[in-house]
Amino acid sequence: MPLVAVVGLGGLGCPAAWALARAEVSLRLLDEDRVERSNLHRQMLYTEADVGRAKVDAAARALLDAGPQVALEAMAEHVTPDSALRLFEGVSLVVEGSDNLATKFLVADACATLGIPVVHGACVGWVGTVLPVVWRAGACYRCVFEDLPLDDGSAASCVTAGVYGPVTSVVGALMAADALSFLAGDTSRAGHLGRYDGWAQSWRSTPMRARADCPLCRPGAAPPTLTPDRYGAACGDV
Ligand SMILES: [Zn+2]
Repeated sequence: MPLVAVVGLGGLGCPAAWALARAEVSLRLLDEDRVERSNLHRQMLYTEADVGRAKVDAAARALLDAGPQVALEAMAEHVTPDSALRLFEGVSLVVEGSDNLATKFLVADACATLGIPVVHGACVGWVGTVLPVVWRAGACYRCVFEDLPLDDGSAASCVTAGVYGPVTSVVGALMAADALSFLAGDTSRAGHLGRYDGWAQSWRSTPMRARADCPLCRPGAAPPTLTPDRYGAACGDV
């Protein structure tokens, strides 16, 4: 049975983990945070009784309670430049639902280094995006988003712009669908950027072109160096 790492047990990671566990996929749950009351409206695996508990423990409990039994590894750690390769060891695929760009680029780089597919998800306000990536089979995360923006506060995030709970549930489920397609051997959506608009109730999937000058996946590019200075601070989940 393949092992899938879920990075961030927040608004995206909760529904994605739920759908994957229901499909009897083994999961490695990665998140260092604890459940907060303000999370509950969009993080569907947690209840009032979980406030203060480690998210990975509360999530594992909820997934096991719902059955069927799946193999779960609960690791209360954030993915950092120092830990990424260790945390993804033995993993077939990564589902990335973190809430900050630094972690997204780090996960993209680590998965490229290891040559494992990754499904990225993000939500801001009413809009969510999904980008499933298979290494050297279509566009990668850096083909589409290039690099971290300047840290001048101009980039909107779920922290500054808010995020609507139902949108994260939809996008998390779409991430799980892409992950299950990959696990079934169908990579036809690799490199397609999906965009869900919860206000307009619209979904658009656009094939993205691999950039000839992509710093990560262009032919002959040097492997990324996972050093803290490349990613700045902050790790977390939606
Ligand atoms: Zn690329």
